Amino acid sequence: MNAVRERFSLSELREDTDTGHRSGPTTLSCVIPSRNEAGNLPLLLSQLGQLLPRLAPAWEVILVDDGSTDDTPRLMAEWARLPGFRVIQLSRNFGKEAALTAGLEASAGDVVVMMDADLQHPPALLEEMVAQWRQGADVVYAMRTGRADEPAFKRIGTHLFYQLLNRFERVKVPEGAGDFRLLDRKAVDALLALPERNRFMKGLYAWIGFDAVAVPYFPQPRASGRSHFDLSRLLRLSMAALTAFTNWPLRVVGALGTVLAVASFAYAADLTIEYMLYGHQVSGWTTIVVVLMLFFGVQMIFLGIIGEYIARIFEEVKGRPLYLVKRELGRGLAK
Ligand code: UDP
Ligand code: MG
Repeated sequence: MNAVRERFSLSELREDTDTGHRSGPTTLSCVIPSRNEAGNLPLLLSQLGQLLPRLAPAWEVILVDDGSTDDTPRLMAEWARLPGFRVIQLSRNFGKEAALTAGLEASAGDVVVMMDADLQHPPALLEEMVAQWRQGADVVYAMRTGRADEPAFKRIGTHLFYQLLNRFERVKVPEGAGDFRLLDRKAVDALLALPERNRFMKGLYAWIGFDAVAVPYFPQPRASGRSHFDLSRLLRLSMAALTAFTNWPLRVVGALGTVLAVASFAYAADLTIEYMLYGHQVSGWTTIVVVLMLFFGVQMIFLGIIGEYIARIFEEVKGRPLYLVKRELGRGLAK
């Protein structure tokens, strides 16, 4: 990897220390995670092949094949013969977050752009993103102007998720900002230095900070194929994100436990006083059953929440690599 970076660092990029403005020729990497995108890649890649040379004198497109089972690997291998196109084939499907990390680790540009393979992210926006970066932004993220393209349940679910994620937390993850973004080399290196296995990228982007600028865009419908993120996968991703970026559920568990314990002590005291004043009372079977069931239920929920956090700890402790590479093709760097 370092050899590529050295080759790439021929660039004579200059950064104005006062204004942050960047000038001079630059090198650009474009990272595209793809799983079963044979229907979309030819169009996207030919668009990029025309656009990128206009944006940067030296550029590379890094295609990450995330365990595709269709024609994608063959198509990518064909593109890898052309200058500027590189392919990283993962050994199986590791998920989009891992595929993005693989692409970032392989990238060598002064500036890295990430985009989906399905043409939902219009390549035409890259020009504006690079312009913002030249003016000094370290991160330029495409901000979707609406979710009209998505079904209502997904819109409501997403909104709820961001509410839960950002509640009480210092680092806010902006709703509507996704993986379609440009990162300066500093930001890429910062992201890659984060050690965690659980890579909820939208959270990590927010965590690293830097000067970020939003560029509005309206996501296009998927050109071909279906979204890989169905309800169960979105729920799993949300759970991973919440456990990685929030502590408040654990605090809520503690607080609720205290309230319940105090309430039950008060009730116990009330019963004892009643017993002493009015003698033995046999009735109250319903109360006992209801209270028992309530407490068992609440305990199970609490255990579930704690279990989610423990599962995350287990994943981190195992320390397995985020992804494995099966094959690398192409040399990249077109000038
Ligand atoms: N993707 C991937 N690995 C996966 C699932 C998706 O690399 O396991 C890629 C996919 O090929 C696409 C991008 O991630 O380029 C976004 O996926 P998709 O369009 O299915 O998600 P959505 O746009 O619905 O969020
Ligand atoms: Mg998509």
